[in-house]
Amino acid sequence: MRVVVAGGAGFVGSHLCERLLADGAEVVCVDNFLTGRPGNVDPLRAHGAFRLLRRDVTGPLDIAGPVDAVLHLASPASPVDYRALPLETLAVGSVGTGRLLDLARRKGARFVLASTSEVYGDPQVHPQAEQYWGHVNPVGPRSMYDEAKRFAEALTTAHRATHGTRTGIVRIFNTYGPRMRADDGRAVPTFVTQALADRPVTVAGDGSQTRSLCHVDDLVDGLVRMMSREHPGPVNLGNPHELTMLELARLVVRLCGGTAPITFVPRPPDDPSVRRPDVTVARELLDWQPRVELADGLARTVAWFRERPVPPRPGPGY
Ligand code: NAD
Repeated sequence: MRVVVAGGAGFVGSHLCERLLADGAEVVCVDNFLTGRPGNVDPLRAHGAFRLLRRDVTGPLDIAGPVDAVLHLASPASPVDYRALPLETLAVGSVGTGRLLDLARRKGARFVLASTSEVYGDPQVHPQAEQYWGHVNPVGPRSMYDEAKRFAEALTTAHRATHGTRTGIVRIFNTYGPRMRADDGRAVPTFVTQALADRPVTVAGDGSQTRSLCHVDDLVDGLVRMMSREHPGPVNLGNPHELTMLELARLVVRLCGGTAPITFVPRPPDDPSVRRPDVTVARELLDWQPRVELADGLARTVAWFRERPVPPRPGPGY
């Protein structure tokens, strides 16, 4: 099996490359390091079955030789990143998705789009199942990401209908684990780096907004299962265990030694109030369910950050 992982030097992509290599696949990682880091895949470069191509997937893209699957994870993914890179985010979701779909079609490969729970926007339905169409502000401060992914889903669907491309769509909910960037603005790395430095842990709003956090190992397992099926999706991948941001902050503080104070900062506009996946389809179709308990996964994440003290930029967790 030869797999192209676009965005393979990012947080999720690097774990995915690692898992595919462990499963015996050959991996071609394509990344322009817009938000990813070469360091994420450096340990893999000694592996004979791993190849790293520094490429922007919005440009012409050809991969020599056979390809069995194209996994499209290329996109800024954290609010801090996509707000700083709005045009790049829209370009990779539209033009980049088109290039990778064309590649998959030419190679007769399975294509999997890493879409997002953000396609549901600030949801009016809870929990979110795949049939829900979402509640998205097309001109709001998150629109460059939400609409890029919604367009990417539409393009993927049209490619399948028009060319018979073997496509699949997964909608990923909040994922955490080692290799998140300390400064990417997402709640877990923000809280962990603040608590480890004994600085105030900044909870947005009153902290009553909820998220459901999936460990990256569980997510990667779902992606690999989707790659091996022919189903078009969309399929939600996430952990249905929902908690408030304040509960998360308290748990992180406890795991980091219990001394950091918690403070409250203004909540960003259009921040979703609730988020929880309905994973019935993933369970039935992929025989998948998350297995890593939050306290255990967070403890492993804290251990990883503890070994790499980075001066954190202060910022609200979302
Ligand atoms: P990330 O920023 O760590 O990784 C994205 C990777 O894509 C980076 O390595 C970046 O350099 C690369 N990239 C961006 N634009 C590119 C381009 N034009 N050409 C080549 N490479 C490019 O983000 P992540 O958290 O690993 O997310 C991976 C994917 O999963 C994204 O598509 C994201 O939308 C999706 N997703 C992630 C989460 C999450 O919680 N992490 C949730 C929902 C969806």
